[in-house]
Amino acid sequence: MACTPLRSAILFDLGNTLAAYYRPAQFGPVLEACVRMVLEELHRRGLVSVDFDTAIDLARKENKEAPDFRFSPMEDRLARIFGPASMSDTGTVRTLCERFLEPIFRMGRVYDDVLPTLARLRAAGYATAIVSNAPWGSPPQLWHEELSRLGLSGAVDKIVMCGDVGWRKPAPQIFLHAAAAIGVPCERCVFVGDEPQWDVVGSSAAGMRPILIDRDDLHANYEGMRVRHLSEIADSLGGMDATVFMSLALAEGRRALQACLPNPPVGCVLVRAGEIVARGFTQPPGQDHAEAMALRQVKGPLGDVTAYVTLEPCAFHGRTPSCAAALIEREIGCVVVAALDPHPRNAGNGVQMLRAAGVHVELGLLEHEALRDMAPYLLS
Ligand SMILES: [Zn+2]
Repeated sequence: MACTPLRSAILFDLGNTLAAYYRPAQFGPVLEACVRMVLEELHRRGLVSVDFDTAIDLARKENKEAPDFRFSPMEDRLARIFGPASMSDTGTVRTLCERFLEPIFRMGRVYDDVLPTLARLRAAGYATAIVSNAPWGSPPQLWHEELSRLGLSGAVDKIVMCGDVGWRKPAPQIFLHAAAAIGVPCERCVFVGDEPQWDVVGSSAAGMRPILIDRDDLHANYEGMRVRHLSEIADSLGGMDATVFMSLALAEGRRALQACLPNPPVGCVLVRAGEIVARGFTQPPGQDHAEAMALRQVKGPLGDVTAYVTLEPCAFHGRTPSCAAALIEREIGCVVVAALDPHPRNAGNGVQMLRAAGVHVELGLLEHEALRDMAPYLLS
């Protein structure tokens, strides 16, 4: 059976979303420190061209971005401030860029809720990425190294800096590039950022679903989805995809009628790393139940698989073996059940069996919808 990709992605801004650096309004003194660092390096190399006052004046003039959001490289800005002599060879250019960024990198601190949230999202099967502008058109390679120092590189699937793409947020190019890089279409991407224009407007124009992270409560009147802590995102999105999978299990169940009668039209999907790996629905009497049909399609132990089942798996061996026992035997990691089966021989026994065997069970997701579909066919 074909595997239906349903992978979703969560993309994150960097500054003030995943890591604290400085607020835009605090950039004045930061810029002075950056310019001093570059001047010191030029002194060391005997390349000094301008004094500090001249340099900071020129730097303030360079402190702007192109109105069309095209990336404007730091190397060019430094050449305009410190003169072409400072740009004589690539080694010098790179070092001057590193010096400029030192005061900024020194401020970088990853928020406490970031690494646990990223780990949870990955465990739930989401693709993750960081999509960030960099100050002053700084070389993307230096930011990739910075993210590695912060421990963020290993925590996400991809990192896309504006310099990698040649465009800054909110230009659509950088969002589209990131979606393509992780192989998830924009409509299945959520973008999390702290900046209403670059992050929210930019990502939604590219077809993504934006979430504003407002750690300092600056945007209380914001009308879209807003969170104060990153952990809230893992909570809400985990729920979102589970609902999608249960809806698909319900759709499977509807395929069972009328051939399944007198058994109820149950549906099941098995999900591994955010993708459906098997589907099943109740077969005619004496043949597979939904769970058994789905289990037949995947080999090996299923500790990393979640089963979404519209009705409590059967605890008893009737015309067919017990589905709860079959799920336990395959070492299923987690079972999400929409509705309990009122059948006197089941009625909670299926769930109890699973839990007693150490399987994590969640009950009641889309219960109302499941009962609407199945109630006429349930025995009690
Ligand atoms: Zn069964």
